[in-house]
Amino acid sequence: MSSFDVQYQDRAERLIQRALSAQRLPHAYLFHGPDGVGKETFARALAMLLLCPQPGRSESPDGQPRLSACRSCDDCRLAQAGTHPDLHLIYRQLIKYHDDPVVRRRKGLNLGVDVIRQFIIDKLGAKPGRGRAKVFVIRQADRITPQAQNALLKTLEEPPGTTFLILLVSSLDRMLPTTRSRCHLTPFGTLPAHFIAAELTRRLPRLPPQRVRLIARFSQGSLGLALQHAEDGLDGQNDQLVQTLLELPRNSVAQVVEKLTDQAKTLGQGYRRRDPEITETEAQRRGLKAIFALAATWYRDVLHTAIASSDLVANVAYADQLTAAAAGITPGRAVAAVNRIAETEAQLDANVNTKLCLDALVIRLTRLTGGAS
Ligand SMILES: [Zn+2]
Repeated sequence: MSSFDVQYQDRAERLIQRALSAQRLPHAYLFHGPDGVGKETFARALAMLLLCPQPGRSESPDGQPRLSACRSCDDCRLAQAGTHPDLHLIYRQLIKYHDDPVVRRRKGLNLGVDVIRQFIIDKLGAKPGRGRAKVFVIRQADRITPQAQNALLKTLEEPPGTTFLILLVSSLDRMLPTTRSRCHLTPFGTLPAHFIAAELTRRLPRLPPQRVRLIARFSQGSLGLALQHAEDGLDGQNDQLVQTLLELPRNSVAQVVEKLTDQAKTLGQGYRRRDPEITETEAQRRGLKAIFALAATWYRDVLHTAIASSDLVANVAYADQLTAAAAGITPGRAVAAVNRIAETEAQLDANVNTKLCLDALVIRLTRLTGGAS
């Protein structure tokens, strides 16, 4: 394990440790990379180190000096418990705790200027509660509105005294160039599938290995996403979807579209449970995208089976059905199916009517897999 409680983020770790040992640690960071790969865990461990009065020195396996929080002092214990008075976690739902009742009634879809002002800027003047430093970790900082980013610029430029700001973003696209240029960019990468599979098994010991493999494969290198998939029962949704795809030629377009829509709604409920601020339409749209990802994987698996690359197959529980499906479709048509799904997803993103998109997709998939052209 690293000093920062994460694995496979060596680059970020090296950058931070190098700055620590040179004693010129920047005061504002942009941790950027996919969600669910350890950015927040890393940020909280770094915060703990910055707040710890007696950090320990050691060496990394490649001989570089390494600083770590002691993990036993009062500051470390408070930081670990999330109750350290100088460690501030900022997230968009804080809007519900704003002093102004008018602001409290607003939806917290973004991190607006009200939240940034009350929970960061207004706190900067006061001395740290326990004396050492003050650390702000901003979750989903790519949701800070441009107006609020502007309000934060002066703080990022020259944070007062021993104040540190760590902004966590999944994409740099939504950050203003002025914000980016004032922060130290720290990249985080995706996690290897074998690590995600091992973590899933460790945390959810009752999940059967075949399902672990499928979920790990769908997680795009994000442990957070893999855990969500497990919670949403994505593997069970995949079973239903595979059944629908296998029966494509025997059902009407309307029946198939209804089944896909029902699945999208079920998955959408999980998204809304985790993020009640999103609309039902948006939740369903995300559900549909998850279904598309499963469908594309199925046709990719058909292709892998057809060209005898079975080691790349995600749907290992369906070896027989894949062999039968591969016998009934040319590799070219399997590729066309994958492409058609990607096109439909792009249409959804461009706000084309969902039902029209689905009707057209189902008709095309039925033709591609049913023999007629
Ligand atoms: Zn300590």
